Amino acid sequence: MQRAVYPGSFDPITYGHLDIIDRAAEVFDEVIVLIMYNDEKTGTFTVEERLDMVQNVIKKYDNVTVMAGDGLTVDMARKLGANILIRGIRAVTDYEYEMQLATANMVLAEDVHTVFLVAKPEYSFLSSSTAKSIAKCKGDISSFVPDYVREKMEEKYGYHYE
Ligand code: ADP
Repeated sequence: MQRAVYPGSFDPITYGHLDIIDRAAEVFDEVIVLIMYNDEKTGTFTVEERLDMVQNVIKKYDNVTVMAGDGLTVDMARKLGANILIRGIRAVTDYEYEMQLATANMVLAEDVHTVFLVAKPEYSFLSSSTAKSIAKCKGDISSFVPDYVREKMEEKYGYHYE
């Protein structure tokens, strides 16, 4: 049984993350979306809010679950009995950072393997921060995040896009 962990901030989850989840759910038996938080760095959404949003948008998968964790990702993966870390690559700009992360994780844990997945080209520009920048200006974020997340973001930024 291949259990994979998909770690990230998911602050909040976007269609880009979901595309990666969709692919991972096909390739692996079990996928755990792992919302990594760190006490010094507060996000836009609380961990509870992020958990709620992910829970809501992964309902259709019977092999995908979500949980939150802190500390080292490789330690969390080991605790969860997973030896695969999934990361998504958007454009070359992600490559250097992701390589550093994957290499550091390899040094920390030889038995945990990073697998990179690529999302559809239309999501290659998409990040949580892009969606948030648009929401800050009360713009239409419906192409970036699922409806449930859009509602939560509009609530957070105090508007309703018609
Ligand atoms: P982090 O804060 O650890 O970068 P994110 O929540 O931003 O976490 O992203 C988690 C993972 O998902 C990262 O590997 C990131 O590159 C990937 N990802 C995010 N958005 C996209 C996208 N639009 N297409 C492909 N991968 C993505």
